[in-house]
This record gives sequence, structure tokens and C-alpha cells, in this order.
Amino acid sequence: MSASTPGERHAIDAAHGFVAAHVKPNAQSWDRGLADSGSVLREAARAGLLGLEVPVEQGGQGLSFGCKRRVAEILAAADFGLAMSVINTHNVANHLARSAAPELTRHVLPALLSGERTGCTALTEPGAGSDFSAITTLARRAGDEWLIDGRKAWIVNATHADVVVVYAQTAPGSGARGIAAFVVDGSRSGFVRDPRSDSTAAPGIDAGGFQLQAYRARADELLHPPGEAFKAALASINGARTYVAAMCCGMVEECLRVASAYGAVRHSFGKPLHEHQGWRWSLADAAIELEAARLLVDAAASRIDSGSDAQAAAARAKVFATRMAGRHVAALMHAMGAEGLREHHPFLRHLAAAQVATLVDGSTEMLLERVARGLRRP
Ligand SMILES: Cc1cc2nc3c(=O)[nH]c(=O)nc-3n(C[C@H](O)[C@H](O)[C@H](O)COP(=O)(O)OP(=O)(O)OC[C@H]3O[C@@H](n4cnc5c(N)ncnc54)[C@H](O)[C@@H]3O)c2cc1C
Repeated sequence: MSASTPGERHAIDAAHGFVAAHVKPNAQSWDRGLADSGSVLREAARAGLLGLEVPVEQGGQGLSFGCKRRVAEILAAADFGLAMSVINTHNVANHLARSAAPELTRHVLPALLSGERTGCTALTEPGAGSDFSAITTLARRAGDEWLIDGRKAWIVNATHADVVVVYAQTAPGSGARGIAAFVVDGSRSGFVRDPRSDSTAAPGIDAGGFQLQAYRARADELLHPPGEAFKAALASINGARTYVAAMCCGMVEECLRVASAYGAVRHSFGKPLHEHQGWRWSLADAAIELEAARLLVDAAASRIDSGSDAQAAAARAKVFATRMAGRHVAALMHAMGAEGLREHHPFLRHLAAAQVATLVDGSTEMLLERVARGLRRP
């Protein structure tokens, strides 16, 4: 996909510049979450990456989803965790710009766009992941306010974010119909952040959890009322699935680049690795499937930009691209021999990220079900 407008070309150049200056030199050291997420997100803001899809009249750039998807791919090629962190903050800004009460938007949006505040979106709980309608975080009306209690887990940016979109149940037993969404302030009393955990095998991906303990949300902090929030979450999920698929393409492209460069200089049996047919075929396999994944991502992205139904297209793209990344990051690492294990190369980080990509925003099994539903005969 090539950027088509000057604004989009500028955003893509800015993403490349941001990666070269702030991500590539540091990604290796982000092996337990972004060490100083504040400063790197402010740099992302300076590059304009936190307002890509946010309407111009709200301080953003009003660019297409296809452009965001391309930026996500560029960022993830260097570091998936950083890409998720930037895109999740961007998504909260865009969500608020389009759905929050005007006064709340005026108050919060500028700080999100400048990277002074960071954002996250919290659906998952310790007891409910794939089955989103089973969440038990409870929001009760208390006069003009809402009182929220519960716990969220595995949330990108939760270790530092203070503009938190929280999905909560308002009528236990009512499933999706009772779910509402709130804008929660991570600096307010009743918001208790979990300590940062470094005990997962997802290096550099800044995911964490928090508790809400009698947290008071004002009436204007209700982002989507009961009955609307589940639909709102589903409305944005096709975009998320598509950009995660694009991120997988970015990671494989980078691994392919590194392996190909190594194959030109590393010799075995008197010639460069590239000159061994058995060696270069693993790179050819990766290149072919990368291209196929990109075509599926392009198809889903253009449906999103044209406002068509993208459910099946996004599911197809994510299932194919995440599996493609799992297979080919591992194969390309193998093609490097022992050298592939060195931490200055991206293979180990990208391998863990490819596994995370199979879970976030709909696991492979959920998406296969989505595709299968479209195959049923009437
Ligand atoms: C690094 C990271 C970042 C994340 N960031 C966020 C975030 O920002 N916000 C957020 O809300 N969540 C986030 N998540 C959570 C993610 O969305 C969940 O991991 C995902 O929804 C799967 O839920 P689970 O892990 O609880 O697995 P479970 O739901 O417990 O499922 C376990 C396994 O069983 C499979 N399975 C479940 N039900 C079925 C079924 N009916 N049929 C067949 N197979 C099934 C699943 O596919 C999975 O393989 C993140 C997760 C990770 C790892």
C-alpha cells in the first residue's frame, strides 16, 4: 500500500524518522516494558503519531485508517511493544474525540495528543478474556455519579496510562446488554495500579492491570451507556485486527531484511549463505507469505476506509498474518544460525510479539469462528 495524500506521505516519513531516532537505538533495552514511556510517547506526539485519525478540528490530522495501518507496520517492524503503546494512546484520543462529552474532550484531548498523558482501553479481566460479555467489573449509579469496582488485567499501557477507557457491567446477568464504558482518570482516588510485573515472556510489551475500588465516575465520564458500549467495542475491533495483522507484516519484513543481509556476508562451505539453494528458499517462503498477508491487510483496510463491512476481511487478515509471523520469524531466526539469538537482532522480541498478536483484539480461535460464520449456508 502506498500513501496517497501529502498528509499521509508526511505521516509515514515522520514514522520512519521517529523509529530511526527513538525506537531503533533503544528497543533492545525495552526488554521489560518501555523504560521511560513518557518521553518516547512525547516524541511520538512531536512526530504527529498520536493524532493520525483524530479529526482536524479536534487538533488531529484527520488521516485515513489505511495511513494508521501503515504507520503501525513501520513502528512494529522496529518494536511491537512500542507500536502497541503508541497506537493504543492514539486510539483513546480518537475514541474520545468522536464519542466523549465535549467538555471532557476539551479537558483531556490536548494532553493525549501532546503525549503528556497516555491512554489505554480495558476490556480484559483476570476472569474474562475472549468472553468479553462475561466481565464482572461493576458500575452502579450513585446519584449523578457512577461507582465502579473491579479488576482489569493484560492492558497495554496500564503501567502508566491515566486516561483509561473502562468497560464495566451495569446489570449483572444481562451480558452484553448491560455493558457500559467510562473514561477513568488514573490519577484519581479509587484507581489502584498493579505493580509492574516482569514475569511474562512478552518482552517490551507494556501490559499491566489495575483495580477500581469504589471509583467515582462523573456523569459526563460515561462514554457509552449500557446497550451501546458492546457495539462500540465491536465497531472498532475490525480496525484493531487489521493493524495488528499489519504489525505482523512489519515484523516479518524486518526479520527478512536482517536475515537477507546476513546471508550475503556469512559464508559456509566456501560461499555466502545466499548461494545455498536450501538456505535461500526459507527466505523466499517468507517473502511470498508476507506478500499474501499484505494483500489481505490491504483488502481489510480498504473496506474499513470505505465504510464497508470489514468483519470477515479483518478476521482473515489477522489469522493469516499472525500465523505467518509466528512461522517465519522463527524460520528466519533459524536461518541466522546462533547469530539469530543475539539480542541486538529483533528475532526474539518479534517471536514473542507474534505470539501476543494471536491473542490481542480477538484470538485466532475467535476469528476462525468469525470466518466460519460467514461460510454457513442460508
Ligand atoms: C501483551 C498483551 C496485551 C493485551 N492488551 C490488552 C488491552 O490493551 N486491552 C484489553 O482489554 N485486553 C488486552 N489483552 C488481552 C487479550 O485481549 C486477551 O488475552 C484475549 O482476549 C484472550 O483472552 P485470554 O488471554 O483470557 O484467553 P481465554 O479467553 O482464557 O482463552 C484461552 C485460550 O482458549 C481459546 N478459547 C477461548 N474460548 C474459546 C472457544 N469458545 N472456542 C475455542 N477456543 C477458545 C482462546 O483462543 C485461547 O487460545 C492483552 C493481552 C496480552 C497478552
